[in-house]
Amino acid sequence: MSKFQGVWVFIEQLAGEVAPVSWELLGAGRTLADNLEGELAGVLLGHEVKHLVSEVWAYGADKVYLIEDPVLQFYRTAPYARALVQAVKEYQPEILLLGATSLGRDLSGAVATALGTGLTADCTGLAIQPETRFLEQTRPAFGGNVMATILCRRHRPQMATVRPRVMPMPSRREGRRGELVRVDVTFDADEARAEVIEIITEKNKAVYLDRAEIIVAGGRGVGSKENFALLEELAGVLGGTLAASRAAVEAGWLPPEYQVGQTGVTVRPKIYFAIGISGAIQHLVGMQGADVIVAVNNDPDAPIFKIATYGIVGDFREVVPALTAEFRLRLDPAPGPGRAPGAEGSGSY
Ligand SMILES: Cc1cc2nc3c(=O)[nH]c(=O)nc-3n(C[C@H](O)[C@H](O)[C@H](O)COP(=O)(O)OP(=O)(O)OC[C@H]3O[C@@H](n4cnc5c(N)ncnc54)[C@H](O)[C@@H]3O)c2cc1C
Repeated sequence: MSKFQGVWVFIEQLAGEVAPVSWELLGAGRTLADNLEGELAGVLLGHEVKHLVSEVWAYGADKVYLIEDPVLQFYRTAPYARALVQAVKEYQPEILLLGATSLGRDLSGAVATALGTGLTADCTGLAIQPETRFLEQTRPAFGGNVMATILCRRHRPQMATVRPRVMPMPSRREGRRGELVRVDVTFDADEARAEVIEIITEKNKAVYLDRAEIIVAGGRGVGSKENFALLEELAGVLGGTLAASRAAVEAGWLPPEYQVGQTGVTVRPKIYFAIGISGAIQHLVGMQGADVIVAVNNDPDAPIFKIATYGIVGDFREVVPALTAEFRLRLDPAPGPGRAPGAEGSGSY
């Protein structure tokens, strides 16, 4: 086993743009590599993606394994899996991490099966067990009611996928350099098997939910689709994004892409407003990484208050418009009637 060395992070890119989860994993991977007193490497696959190598170093990798070929321009399981498997067999990393995106979920399964090693999907925590060097892979199980810590004792690499936004974004060090290793893979003409005809980019705002800095989320307590207008107004004043609990999505008040939680999106905003949301564990796992949580609920015993930074006990139909009005007053730079600088009465607020 000792011949397996180093922590690898799969750098996911589409059209030369890297998925932010890859940087988050380099941050987490740095800690793991330091604990193992080993190297951190990024493995980058694509067509004409060499310009991304310096970015991978900047986010903390000591090395980049680069595989470039026209067949890798668009993601397809077969050539990506074979290339990654070849690189792993050649350089034998101890740990291989991927983002739990649709691409990462697909690729990790194919690679783990081909290598005959263990894979834990959707981890929320990673750590090194000092005595054994095993990777402790923690993920929610049984609908989020149990946290399971899984080990891969006898096979290498130890593979895990991690959801976007679970790990914090590391800082980027401009000009930080490392080593570049090109891996040569020869592809057969018919290897890809699937053909990409068109890539359609979804222009839906909710696609960016996991990057939103301010989120106003509503739950069953909001009561109706119409009532979401109050939340929308608050979000508008704050420049934030709407979101929902599963109960609100199941009621049809917001589309499924807006769902936060275990079976929805994991978010990590600066401020998360939880309005009419009880705070079920399956919801909490998707938003507890927020810097500040503001809960509005008419039940003082709602579990959400246990993790809220600020809690307001009350009916959201009164609290939310009051918050909106107050934020509008303090944040709105547009001079309103009587509030223009120099205008009469401008000193009154
Ligand atoms: C396998 C599995 C996966 C799941 N995945 C997810 C997931 O990804 N995301 C998710 O959210 N859930 C998920 N759930 C569901 C989860 O268990 C809860 O059922 C759900 O989160 C509850 O949503 P809620 O908080 O909006 O509703 P409720 O639990 O019904 O809470 C509504 C809250 O609104 C308050 N309220 C009512 N009226 C008002 C008012 N006028 N003003 C202020 N407050 C008011 C109530 O006091 C209550 O606390 C999952 C469940 C399972 C089993």
